[in-house]
Amino acid sequence: SLEVRGVTKAFGSLAVLRDLNLSVEPGEFAAVIGPSGSGKSTLFNLISGLDRPTSGEILVQGAPASVASGKVAYMPQKDLLFPWRTVLDNTALGLEAQGVRKKEARRRAGELFEAFGLDGFQSSYPFELSGGMRQRAALLRTVVLERPVLLLDEPFGALDSLTRTEMQLWLADMWQRYRWTVVLVTHDIREAVLLADTVHVLSPRPATVVERIEVPRSGPRGLDALSEPEFAA
Ligand code: ATP
Ligand code: MG
Repeated sequence: SLEVRGVTKAFGSLAVLRDLNLSVEPGEFAAVIGPSGSGKSTLFNLISGLDRPTSGEILVQGAPASVASGKVAYMPQKDLLFPWRTVLDNTALGLEAQGVRKKEARRRAGELFEAFGLDGFQSSYPFELSGGMRQRAALLRTVVLERPVLLLDEPFGALDSLTRTEMQLWLADMWQRYRWTVVLVTHDIREAVLLADTVHVLSPRPATVVERIEVPRSGPRGLDALSEPEFAA
């Protein structure tokens, strides 16, 4: 679980977050939407422990947020793959960075290639992939860390609308399969409602959660929802 309690963050005289509260249960898919510059990426930097709040506290599974705790996997807004490394190498990098040996890291990342629709592209280079595939590879690199909380900062922001829809349905399917605890930042309200259990709306800077919406859900989401009776011919 994730608890953000009364968090305020300022950079010098710039107040970015103000008394922000957010709580996410294990297995919950939460979406955060808010205007550009409101502090969404700043919030993720705090939750991942890369930066510290000016005041307030953040607990991940009951312990204060820190990089060293290894509880948060973070896919930053610009999660670039290294162009000169193969896709498999790129997806194993996160594990290697946390001390897993290269061979083992590649084995664990490689096991996910099929589920992520990347089978056969292990030794390709990023430029040989489509935009959606590159995003799936970046997500694979994050997910393979198997941490309790997954932070996704606009993972589909740069994609064309068709690929974006495809990726949204795919992420819904993956969530149903793995039941990650996810916090997704998006500008796309449709995406938030399609994917999330709860939508947390931020105010303009200094940002605070002005509304928490529980998305009514019955039955499966994503592609599985299409086989529900109301869609069946
Ligand atoms: P977007 O939707 O465009 O990604 P955002 O909600 O993620 O925006 P942030 O990147 O969190 O916004 O930035 C919020 C504000 O904090 C901006 O005004 C930004 O310039 C400022 N800011 C972010 N990081 C720093 C920093 N390390 N030092 C100083 N100011 C910063
Ligand atoms: Mg941002």
